[in-house]
Amino acid sequence: PKFDLEALLDGLNPPQRQAVLHDGGPVVVVAGAGSGKTRVLTRRIAYLVGERKVHPGSILAITFTNKAAAEMRHRVMDLVGNRAKLMWVSTFHSACVRILRAEISRFGMNRTFSIYDDADSKRLMQLVARDLDLDPKRFGVRTIMNWVSNCKNDLVDHDSARARVNGPDEERFLEAYQEYQRRLVAANALDFDDLIMTTVHLFQAFPEVREQYRRRFRHVLVDEYQDTNHAQYALIRELCGSELAAQDGRPEQREADPPELMVVGDSDQSIYAFRGATIRNILDFESDFAGASTIVLDQNYRSTQTVLNAANAVITKNEGRPDKRLWTDAGDGDLIVGYVADSEHDEAQFVAGEIDKLSDDGKSRYADCAVFYRTNAQSRPFEEVFIRVGLPYKVVGGVRFYERREVRDAIAYLRAINNRDDDVSVRRILNVPRRGIGDRAEGAVEELAREKRISFGEALRRIDEINGLATRSAKQLRLFVDFLDAHEKMVAEGQPADQILTSVLTESGYLAELQGSTDPQDETRMENLVELVAVAREFVAGTVGVEAELEPAALPGALPDDFDITAELDLAGGAPEPDPSLGAFLERVALVADSDQIPSNDADDAGVVTLMTLHTAKGLEFDTVFLTGLEDGVFPHQRSLTDQVELAEERRLAYVGLTRARKRLYLSRAAVRAAWGAPQHNPPSRFLGDIPDRLVDWRRTESALTSWRNSSATSSRQSSGRQSWNSQPSRPRPTEREIPSLAAGDKVLHPTFGLGKVVATSGADDNAKADVDFGSAGLKRLALRYAPLQKL
Ligand code: ATP
Ligand code: MG
Repeated sequence: PKFDLEALLDGLNPPQRQAVLHDGGPVVVVAGAGSGKTRVLTRRIAYLVGERKVHPGSILAITFTNKAAAEMRHRVMDLVGNRAKLMWVSTFHSACVRILRAEISRFGMNRTFSIYDDADSKRLMQLVARDLDLDPKRFGVRTIMNWVSNCKNDLVDHDSARARVNGPDEERFLEAYQEYQRRLVAANALDFDDLIMTTVHLFQAFPEVREQYRRRFRHVLVDEYQDTNHAQYALIRELCGSELAAQDGRPEQREADPPELMVVGDSDQSIYAFRGATIRNILDFESDFAGASTIVLDQNYRSTQTVLNAANAVITKNEGRPDKRLWTDAGDGDLIVGYVADSEHDEAQFVAGEIDKLSDDGKSRYADCAVFYRTNAQSRPFEEVFIRVGLPYKVVGGVRFYERREVRDAIAYLRAINNRDDDVSVRRILNVPRRGIGDRAEGAVEELAREKRISFGEALRRIDEINGLATRSAKQLRLFVDFLDAHEKMVAEGQPADQILTSVLTESGYLAELQGSTDPQDETRMENLVELVAVAREFVAGTVGVEAELEPAALPGALPDDFDITAELDLAGGAPEPDPSLGAFLERVALVADSDQIPSNDADDAGVVTLMTLHTAKGLEFDTVFLTGLEDGVFPHQRSLTDQVELAEERRLAYVGLTRARKRLYLSRAAVRAAWGAPQHNPPSRFLGDIPDRLVDWRRTESALTSWRNSSATSSRQSSGRQSWNSQPSRPRPTEREIPSLAAGDKVLHPTFGLGKVVATSGADDNAKADVDFGSAGLKRLALRYAPLQKL
């Protein structure tokens, strides 16, 4: 096929052309969202192959979206056919795996090394911590792992980590790092962070290997450069730096000219600081790479001016950023649609309704709609509503809610309690969290079960009949059985599902384990469990009616005291069966999970709606974008409210989210959001406040909501929920719980906010409240009747 340069350059503005045609020294393309950075990389690759006759095998392109990777391959395929396959288009991690598979024998490891994922690494670190006798209360495995991960992202290996040890705790971290690494090597395994660090170390230890790759990759292109961490930066330096030969002091090692390097990025879109990414990499590019030049793009081709104005308004609030403003000649387009929902269910329903309307009107196919939220757990109400109304969707990045490990574990607990003969569930949780019931003990119980032809759970009750069981194991097994028995009793007493679940999570130690960890993943797990409790609570509330207790009352936008959540739930969820029992809850969960599997109906090629977190949305674009959960404490995230650095990162995340929209942007929040303990009343996100009102068509506002609520509160009082509850007087009120008696000075534990100290108390009995200082999570007023506070 003949290469047509004019066709390739067609549809590029002058600075874009300049970048595509650039020849020679390192270049960074810095530009705001949607200005064609990824397009430039894609076209440049085609230009290199088509015009400059560069061999595809000498191109290394680091990308993050499948779409971009596919387009790069496709274009090169069109030009040179199958040789396109020799081009490397991948993420940093997979590029490193390829290099290591070829070279790692130089470090004495086998090329068939395995890659440990998060769970594997954690298991290994647990073993290490145990063998080093690290007190788990003081040295959480996650804390150790984070320390190690930070070291690796900074290229500090276990031999050189001593230099950064600070204090006796880190002495122990270091020991753990060394032992962990020793065992990784013994297992011929690398963890995720090792992939990058080891590749850099390989290049440093064997300059001839580095030279070989420098000769191979004559062109290195990196998308989303703002999200590189130090190790990734160093890797690029090794491959493309120009001062390396002198540095090695090996004059005989004559280097070829360094490869041509082009990186593109936007410091306003840096959103991975928690993985060690640093904006400095893009800001310092010119000083890091000799002879580097910068190309700036400022025309946006993705969005309407309205969308851009909103995005600009939000990001300009960040300090210390180079001022850049995006413009477009696409025109103003539609106003942004704003919506204040009553609850997260109402929000999901609104979104579903709008998507349906857009699709019916032929304005936006399902495939052109995306729903974004801050944390994975927030997909749940959308999934439930979409399933119910039959809106096809897929959740991108992150496992579907009911398939997530922690959710499955929690459900397994409930199933085991509900049905002791459910062997799969009982065994799943037998040693989760770890309670010292090993394979031997499990095997012995299994043996008894087989011999007596009873279920595993039944055999657990008869462990006295097992000979030769270690005392410790026997004791742990008994405790486990007691735990199950106690909860079975709760079921028999007719206690509602949410209370049983809460009790299970706390009493089993499951929460405590997550709580003790500083890994962001475990924080997500915690959020998912909080969400699951909210599901259960809502389920129970939907069946029996529950009063909303407010927390904290002083927040702006708080609801009136006589607010009745039954009305909201009836509106959102229809009228479920009046049965708050555990069995009914499990049935409901099973049904939702089952319908999850139904393949989307895209016969008319409308595709499916995409649900994803804001982090996953990076680099993508959709005609219609729903940015949801815009509440302070949700987005921006709770932690960031008291931390300027984190808040700046949340703001960049908001900028990423807003700029994904091509034609239509919806911003929504929920006035009440189900949460652990009590429904949360979060104030509107500060990001909403930054967006000029003239850009937004508020379909429903807080004030409309309040008047509607006031008028409906009275009527819903007498309606179904409460009555159906009263008609089953044998069961206790669903949200009733032991109210801990607290006094100022007491220490408490809250599953979401963590450790806190009571500063004041007020009210009595059912109205008892406590003001608790949760440190970085802030000062909270909690209703003791609802808040799952544990007195320490
Ligand atoms: P992000 O920062 O979000 O990654 P980006 O800078 O990589 O954005 P692209 O995704 O490359 O931007 O481009 C945004 C949209 O604009 C794409 O649909 C792209 O095809 C289109 N586009 C880019 N440049 C032009 C141009 N010169 N003419 C027409 N459309 C363009
Ligand atoms: Mg891009």
